[in-house]
Amino acid sequence: MERNTIQRDIVLAAVQKMSNHATADEIYATVARDHPAISRSTVYRNLQRLCDRGQLRKREIPGQADVYDQICTNHYHVRCSQCGRIFDVDMDYLSDLAGSIKDTHGFRISGHDIIFTGICPDCQSRR
Ligand SMILES: [Zn+2]
Ligand SMILES: [Zn+2]
Repeated sequence: MERNTIQRDIVLAAVQKMSNHATADEIYATVARDHPAISRSTVYRNLQRLCDRGQLRKREIPGQADVYDQICTNHYHVRCSQCGRIFDVDMDYLSDLAGSIKDTHGFRISGHDIIFTGICPDCQSRR
């Protein structure tokens, strides 16, 4: 197998064994535990490749680092305001949401993202 493919598979395998929505730093830390020879930039580059290939999806989270999502289809998220972890929200995708915009100010709308805010069960029980 080509070296690039091996590294990509290592990065993907690390993401798959982690909880979903890990940051690039968290993924690098996991990879480095088993493969200390793989550099941070290699991990970052392969995360980008996996996104380009549609095997992962990068989610931009306002105010914190981007996370990598193993579920590439459209879905929504909730962010814990205490620990910052990102979870999937189980609800239908509002594909016609853009239709409720009253004035797009000339924009051709290409998509939307919804991130709910809340407190996760772990943080609730720690209170
Ligand atoms: Zn939490
Ligand atoms: Zn997700």
